[in-house]
Amino acid sequence: MSCKTPGHSPPAMIEIEQVWKAVDRRTVALSAERIPLDQAGDRMLAVAVRADTDLPPFDQSAMDGYALGSAPSGAPFKQVATLAAGHASRRTLRPGEAARVFTGARLPRGTFAIARQEDCTAKADVVRVGVACPHGAHVRQRGGIARAGAQILPAGCRLLPGVAGLLASCNAFEVSVLRRPKIEHLVTGDELARPGEKLRPGRIRDANGPLIQALLAALGLSTRRRRLSDSAAALRKAVVKSDADLLLISGGSGPGGRDHARAALEAAGFAVHCSSVNSRPGRPLIFASRGPRLAFGLPGNPLSHYVTFHGFVRRAIARMEGRPPPRLLSATLRGDPPDADDRRRSWFPARLTLGAGGAEARPLRWKHSGDLTPLAEANALILSSGEAPLRDGDRVAVLPAFDTLEAA
Ligand code: AMP
Ligand code: MG
Repeated sequence: MSCKTPGHSPPAMIEIEQVWKAVDRRTVALSAERIPLDQAGDRMLAVAVRADTDLPPFDQSAMDGYALGSAPSGAPFKQVATLAAGHASRRTLRPGEAARVFTGARLPRGTFAIARQEDCTAKADVVRVGVACPHGAHVRQRGGIARAGAQILPAGCRLLPGVAGLLASCNAFEVSVLRRPKIEHLVTGDELARPGEKLRPGRIRDANGPLIQALLAALGLSTRRRRLSDSAAALRKAVVKSDADLLLISGGSGPGGRDHARAALEAAGFAVHCSSVNSRPGRPLIFASRGPRLAFGLPGNPLSHYVTFHGFVRRAIARMEGRPPPRLLSATLRGDPPDADDRRRSWFPARLTLGAGGAEARPLRWKHSGDLTPLAEANALILSSGEAPLRDGDRVAVLPAFDTLEAA
């Protein structure tokens, strides 16, 4: 059986960077939504947050000790009040007076400084201070962190876990963040058996469904998965029906007679921006858009799926969510990559570690693009330039697969 469709010339092959440009050009950031702060972890802020009040909102004691009405001069102070966190007093301290204060307490007017309790001795209401206290010592001044109305976080910043407390301090218990994409994964292939089903001759398991689900889960996302036979009509119907922001089609992305992804996307009104990329694996990659909706046709080989997800799909997701796109790092190659003398742009599953000498990437052995075994260890992909064979010790471009780098 011939692999070529008579009368069809192969689609023009474009470079990886051209696909990235097309993705950047076609991807629009998703709309904003207001969600509870407790659910906003790692989202991208859509609108700047301003302090709703001075931070801190009042002059505050930074210590357990005594608020002094004047500088210590050797003479004892008279304790006139006790103030704990959460309590306030209308009293104004006069020179020679002191108030017992605990950390976080709102300071009375007239406070000159705080003397730490370990620097004081107190008997009944007589307080002696054994050290000099400069003006304002151990006082957290009202508005010292930010004034009411000042910008605390700019629009477009990522809500790292550390900022949750800051947002709460500003009463931002609801925040406006960019929506996350609705993603659908259409998994095509007559050869795919249902989970748990006994394998009939010629059948294999669907590796790509769970693979994409797990990759998206690592980004805090999920997907709706539909398994489809290799029917042009069924795929077309599913693509037309989809209301996803991002549609991923597994399999059938090539130009062969049994490949229906391109035709289905075009029938549903998508414009196809590329269908053949100088990328190994991942040459038959389709990128298409219809208004703000994006679609990828991802080659069915599971390793190709993994590579094209990291190499291209993640970029689209990042752009939709207002995040910076995944960046290539420079690392030292440790060990020879398989097919090191190949001249095509190739991705190699690798183990990226951070050693004393910086980032190092060790290529993992793999047999062909259906071989998933290296992914048990892979946390990165080496991208070869395709210009010269790679050698041990070379500086190479590496795309980390996840946020984390492990120490060697
Ligand atoms: P395709 O891109 O549809 O031409 O498929 C290329 C290769 O990947 C074939 O060997 C398929 O059997 C295999 N393949 C396609 N889809 C999957 C899948 N979901 N899980 C595992 N292998 C697949
Ligand atoms: Mg197929």
